[in-house]
Amino acid sequence: MRTTGSRKTTEVPVGNIGIGGRNPVRVQSMADTDTSDVSSTVEQLLSLWHAGSELLRITVNTPEAAKAVPKIKRELLIKGCGAPLIGDFHYNGHILLENNPEAAAALDKFRINPGNTGKGDSRREHFFEICAIAKKLKKAVRIGVNSGSVDEELLSKLERSNAKKKKKTPEDKLLLEAMIASVLSSLDMAFEAGLKKNQVVLSCKTTEPNDLIYLYRRLAERTDQPFHLGLTEAGGGMKGIVWSSVAAGVLLSEGIGETVRVSLTPAPGGDRRDEVYAAKEILESLDIRHFSPRIISCPGCGRTSGDLYRQLAFRIEAFVRERAPEWQKKRKGVENLKIAVMGCIVNGPGESKAADIGISLPGRNENPSSMIFEKGKEVAAVRGGLERLAGEMFRRIESFIDKNYGVRS
Ligand code: SF4
Repeated sequence: MRTTGSRKTTEVPVGNIGIGGRNPVRVQSMADTDTSDVSSTVEQLLSLWHAGSELLRITVNTPEAAKAVPKIKRELLIKGCGAPLIGDFHYNGHILLENNPEAAAALDKFRINPGNTGKGDSRREHFFEICAIAKKLKKAVRIGVNSGSVDEELLSKLERSNAKKKKKTPEDKLLLEAMIASVLSSLDMAFEAGLKKNQVVLSCKTTEPNDLIYLYRRLAERTDQPFHLGLTEAGGGMKGIVWSSVAAGVLLSEGIGETVRVSLTPAPGGDRRDEVYAAKEILESLDIRHFSPRIISCPGCGRTSGDLYRQLAFRIEAFVRERAPEWQKKRKGVENLKIAVMGCIVNGPGESKAADIGISLPGRNENPSSMIFEKGKEVAAVRGGLERLAGEMFRRIESFIDKNYGVRS
């Protein structure tokens, strides 16, 4: 397992954890509740935290939202959640932080978008005001540039100088160059304002995977500040997950990226925790971190009988996801457990034997018993429907963990 990869970065302490340095790549997420609604925000943050988000971000956009911040932090602590709380500021961050010192104190990190701190001289002034508060309170900041809110003045300046060049930079690349220049000049400004290296995380997010890869590779050559990684406005469903995974996956596999967020548009009525699950899966797939037991299941085919197989695979996956945080708290090494759920005799017994615990369902026209294997040996042949098989697997998984993974002290 790599900690923060081959790129050596400065460690930035954020609340009770660190980003960069020798820390593992951190998973983070952002609530979509109205921050002034304390109970809904706390409820969602707790669900994101229980799902595995190690840093929690909230929008701080109004005086009401700023006033809610200390209450949210207090409630989280009462519920046992000490995860760092990050405030996301745009346009009026300097005013909200100045007028709400309790909110500034309660937050562990401020996210500043230098494209959105003002216009002309006021941009620099407001940026300095936020940095001054971070300096005084010894808070971390993330300087986050997004392709949708890039510093217009900087972009126009680059366009003007590009127009004079013989060999012109293509327009799409010009935006990327403006983003890189904006991140680096904001970093210089943050230092000028008195922030230390160990207070600044950088991000430079765009909606196109190839652009994101280009931006972060270029930035990695220029700075050793830790990076917040993620495709912005990735979209929803399969598109959002695949595009985010490809973009973050390429960079993480090169050791670039110290904290990751998968910005998914949730389906109506969908689960906000999906962005946390997706980030964890990206890290697991690259063997960067392991969070919970791994499920191996086949895609099913013409040999699979009915949809019992699919339903069982999803039930077991949901069960593992739900139980994993508690197992991880109590049992050492449980994240290495492998569980197989297979659809027929072709690969079912083989994969089930290779896993720690596995079930091979009967395919069409096969003996109607499901074989269960533990540590390579068949331990049961069970007949029955979904409830019977799911119940049997849940019981066996719990008992396997009790017997095989030591209690964490
Ligand atoms: S294990 Fe069986 S059901 Fe699953 S994909 Fe292979 S042949 Fe099909």
